[in-house]
Amino acid sequence: MARLVMKFGGTSVADLERIGNVARRVKAEADAGHQVAVVVSAMAGETNKLVGWVRDSGALADLREYDAVVSSGENVTAGLTALALQSLGVPARSWQGWQIPVVTDAAHGSARIQRIETTELERRLGEGQVAVVAGFQGFEPERGRITTLGRGGSDTSAVALAAALGAERCDIYTDVDGVYTSDPRIVTRAQKLEKITYEEMLEMASLGAKVLQTRSVEMAMKHGVRVQVRTSFGEAPGTLVVDEDEIVEQAVVSGVTYSRDEAKITLIGVPDKPGVAAAIFGPLAEAAINVDMIVQSVSEDGERTDMTFTVTKADQARAADLLNGRQDALGFAELRANADVVKVSVIGVGMRSHAGVAQKMFQTLAEKGINIQVISTSEIKVSVLIEEAYTELALRSLHTAYGLDA
Ligand code: ADP
Ligand code: ASP
Ligand code: MG
Repeated sequence: MARLVMKFGGTSVADLERIGNVARRVKAEADAGHQVAVVVSAMAGETNKLVGWVRDSGALADLREYDAVVSSGENVTAGLTALALQSLGVPARSWQGWQIPVVTDAAHGSARIQRIETTELERRLGEGQVAVVAGFQGFEPERGRITTLGRGGSDTSAVALAAALGAERCDIYTDVDGVYTSDPRIVTRAQKLEKITYEEMLEMASLGAKVLQTRSVEMAMKHGVRVQVRTSFGEAPGTLVVDEDEIVEQAVVSGVTYSRDEAKITLIGVPDKPGVAAAIFGPLAEAAINVDMIVQSVSEDGERTDMTFTVTKADQARAADLLNGRQDALGFAELRANADVVKVSVIGVGMRSHAGVAQKMFQTLAEKGINIQVISTSEIKVSVLIEEAYTELALRSLHTAYGLDA
């Protein structure tokens, strides 16, 4: 008898019929004698709707109320799933984040889980009751407020709960049957991976593969939680996220991702002297604006240069305002912002031991006439910033070039 965490995403609980399907899957595991904790997302589209309402009411300024509103979608599905289980004769109850509690810090809108109190949950699991937990939400004890874990955060709820319960496995049920070499909605020849390392999954998630929230992978890696991504609409085996030594044959590149979340900012005519980069990026850091890719071009006259970097689209206006407000102090001639960009990345732990991976990427894009605006690399990935209109073409050509096509 094992303890399992089963997480169902928005499309898997999109209506009562699908919630019924979820209940049947959970019942099958419970009937097999397992102790089951279920984590559910809001019905597909619900969180977007709630976020839209908050935005339209102009209230994004108070993130505590944002959390109060957007966390509510999960309450509905948790209750409905418990009811569906009960109607199949499975003892079940719903749990909201504050009832467990899932204790988080006070970073409303993207709070981090600090601990989960599992005593009562475990007692009831031991009695054969299924726990249906509302994902995405937590509780900040200092002010006694509801928090949310950032978009896609139910994955993190599930992995954190699996770690706290010492679960044998955390199954993430979604609308695709596993982690693919690229987003299967765009790259039709993408292949399902049988296994992927934590490290690669972490890079893929943080570079745009929305199939798992980045923090959930961090958490799984840290606590050694066995995560499986699988479909809730069939029986196909999914993708296991594992340690590197569990993978026998390692491809050089195992995934190609994209992120439309970035925007490019270029400062033209920045004085080319010591301290300028610090003067530009210091205030951005203080304003909690994350900067991702950075390039500084060679100064032609030794006096002035251009500095290009990326921030998230959400931060673009704030970053531009902040820098324009310091134009005199920073001494640049002009600020240009461009949100019409996409970051495309290739990822693989095999890169550590193989040369020429980046070159193949540049060559492939060149052959398609795609201009590279910014490049950044790390040990196991290469990212480029290109014009957004080329997203599909770039993904498909790179997928083919690295031999990933099915
Ligand atoms: P859920 O609502 O179940 O949490 P998400 O929409 O968050 O589901 O994540 C699943 C989606 O992630 C898929 O529909 C797919 O389009 C997208 N996706 C992006 N990259 C990948 C990838 N490499 N492998 C699988 N799915 C991916
Ligand atoms: N419902 C939340 C969202 O849409 C959390 C999740 O689905 O994981 O972001
Ligand atoms: Mg998700």
